[in-house]
Amino acid sequence: MTTAHTAEPSGTVAPEGGHEIVIVGTGFSGLGMAIALKRAGVHDFVILEKADEVGGTWRENTYPGCACDIMSLLYSYSFEPKADWSRMFPRQRELLEYIKGCVDKYGLRRHIRFGTEVTGAEYVDAADSWQVMTATGETFRTRVLVSAMGPLHRPSIPDLPGLETFTGRTFHSAEWDHDYDLTGKRVAVIGTGASAIQFVPQIAPKVESLTVFQRTPPWIIPKPDRRVTEVEKRLFRSVPGVQRAYRNGIYLMQESFVLGFKNPRLLKAAGGLAQWHLHRQVKDPVLRRKLTPDYTMGCKRTLVSSDYYPALTRPNVELVTEGVKEVRGRSIVCGDGTEVEVDAIIFGTGFHVTDAFDDAHIVGRGGVRIQDAWRDGIQAHLGVGVAGFPNLFLLLGPNSGLGHNSMIFIIEAQVRYVMQCLRRLRAGNATRIAVRPAVQARFNEWVQRKSEGAVWVAGGCTSWYLDRNGRNRAAWPASTVNYWLRTRRVRPSDFELANAPKPASPTEPATIGH
Ligand code: NAP
Repeated sequence: MTTAHTAEPSGTVAPEGGHEIVIVGTGFSGLGMAIALKRAGVHDFVILEKADEVGGTWRENTYPGCACDIMSLLYSYSFEPKADWSRMFPRQRELLEYIKGCVDKYGLRRHIRFGTEVTGAEYVDAADSWQVMTATGETFRTRVLVSAMGPLHRPSIPDLPGLETFTGRTFHSAEWDHDYDLTGKRVAVIGTGASAIQFVPQIAPKVESLTVFQRTPPWIIPKPDRRVTEVEKRLFRSVPGVQRAYRNGIYLMQESFVLGFKNPRLLKAAGGLAQWHLHRQVKDPVLRRKLTPDYTMGCKRTLVSSDYYPALTRPNVELVTEGVKEVRGRSIVCGDGTEVEVDAIIFGTGFHVTDAFDDAHIVGRGGVRIQDAWRDGIQAHLGVGVAGFPNLFLLLGPNSGLGHNSMIFIIEAQVRYVMQCLRRLRAGNATRIAVRPAVQARFNEWVQRKSEGAVWVAGGCTSWYLDRNGRNRAAWPASTVNYWLRTRRVRPSDFELANAPKPASPTEPATIGH
């Protein structure tokens, strides 16, 4: 077990004048990484955060009704159970409080540099270290760089003709304008994804009129949300194993969906539930027809809501499926030529995912830009390691996203994997650890083979899982058990360990405690 480290000239730990590890982002993944380091006795790390508070997704998304559609008992760190969740499905505020509680408990605040947006990172070959540039002008030197920026953080706003001429208010769901009072306003919502179906029911009763522009109807199943009872909370607190059993039960229920991804016939039961849900909540046959998906369930993320359909049946709400032809000064012209006057347009149009790195300044060994390394599409070994980019670890990188289970499960598996890589780096008295290109290539062939014929690629829809060539670049194409097994132990032969040109420090290499 080690304690804090001082900089070493060319040793195994921090590069001269730098840190051992720099983490970018304070969402669930970045903080999960930081907690693992702390627990292992590693303290020489800094976390760079562009905002002035922690929380990632759960800080950024504050739209009305923002909540998680995975149950609280599962959507939390396995090692930090919370016995008093107020609801079965956690709301944004409670999740943010949970995250802040973890930050305080593990003493992470002193490691965080708030207001420090990373603008780029370059690998310094001669020193086997990363030079991390920030918008404040400060640079950070580090042996290891962990990117924990989340796959869904760059809002995507469609390039609608005439949008720049609109004189009303516009904003994206992830940048909600709380200063703008929607009461009595004529509002248009573009998009009907996971975010929109949460805020539409919240704003519908307030506004004068709400026009929802739907391009593709989502599959929606009921959300069995309710308050967690006092009896349950007491049980969780006082009877050992009950909370864990609940968590495991929810995990298995969620995981059962994965069987259908490869074999959509198995999703029939869930599809039946979604159809029953629609029929029960929407009586108007015309509206019902508009809301009926024509692609296989699971192709896009299946949504969970019990109040979205009822909101659409309100007299002041209209669902438009003809698309947006044009935006004018104070109106939207629909695909069929109808013009709708609006005061505000809210974009629930999601995020840049497979193209999120298009403008990133990340330069690896030998001056290779990440855009060149990823010319054929974004890819990483197990979503974590990128060939040609030593000592860089991505959390929630390519093909490690889930449409059916808790991302925290994946985060914990990835953090464990990265910790093992760090141990190897130290134990080998090395300065560089890099995934072998052939290993990454083999892994990605497997990903693409598994994805062919699976619901995301063959389900008859497009989604943010796919890149512009229709290849799956975001979703993990197998079970989470499979992911856990693959990341449980780092295969030594998958990585190359090496030293910077300078001779390694003669001091005994430190070890990271288990
Ligand atoms: P999203 O799921 O990507 O949905 C975007 C919506 O905007 C879709 O309905 C899409 O239509 C529509 N859209 C995009 N571009 C458009 C255009 N040019 N014209 C018309 N419509 C357009 O985005 P999101 O709702 O923000 O959610 C993003 C992800 O965040 C989710 O998939 C989920 O992983 C995560 N999320 C999770 C939760 C949770 O509870 N766990 C909650 C919110 C978000 P098409 O379907 O036709 O593309």
